[in-house]
Amino acid sequence: MSGEVTVESPRKLPRGSRVVMASHNAGKVRENAALLAEYGIEIVSAKELGLAEPEETETSFIGNATIKALAAARAANMPALADDSGFSVAALDGAPGVYTADWAQRPEGGRDYAMAMAKVEKLARHAPDRDAWFSCALVLAWPDGHVEGFLGECHGQWVWPPRGENGFGYDPIFEPAEAPGQTFAEMDPALKHEISHRAKAFEKLAAACLG
Ligand code: IMP
Repeated sequence: MSGEVTVESPRKLPRGSRVVMASHNAGKVRENAALLAEYGIEIVSAKELGLAEPEETETSFIGNATIKALAAARAANMPALADDSGFSVAALDGAPGVYTADWAQRPEGGRDYAMAMAKVEKLARHAPDRDAWFSCALVLAWPDGHVEGFLGECHGQWVWPPRGENGFGYDPIFEPAEAPGQTFAEMDPALKHEISHRAKAFEKLAAACLG
């Protein structure tokens, strides 16, 4: 035994590559297309290609993003990018976590984030620990089954009542540690885009696989 450890370097996406974005969410496709355009990568959406959305059955953000990216890469026969994100509360052992969107699901259809935020407050109001964080997993997959995954987190505190009109989802109840006193929904969106979980995951992906 030589005792040598081989560390594989990450697989790159060369400039001029076309990548399928494994999401039917127009906002996500637009945001990721803008980020990737800077590196000469062109995005095609899963919706444009008529790809089915697989079930997200894993218990981690990376696991669910991997399911989506691999399914799209194999179906489209080209590299695919997927993201999976959510909100976690320390006093709730990381919930809602991968179930963040489910907590906002109305029984009659549609999403209600006021209801989801109220659920967080109801369950966590008596716990002195107010730590919370957003996570974003970005996974690139290739048709041969190779995957590269990156996790970005933005830590801070959850607050009540909700404050601010910008952003979306759970933004009104989250104050990031980088901007104490301001929720994601109160701050200039440009600042949120600089410090967010999504920005952190994308920085890691770019450093490893782009350029
Ligand atoms: P996904 O589309 O399955 O990844 O679900 C993500 C869930 O997390 C949705 O319910 C979003 O509203 C929530 N979420 C993810 N990122 C953010 C954010 O930056 N601000 C607020 N909510 C977010």
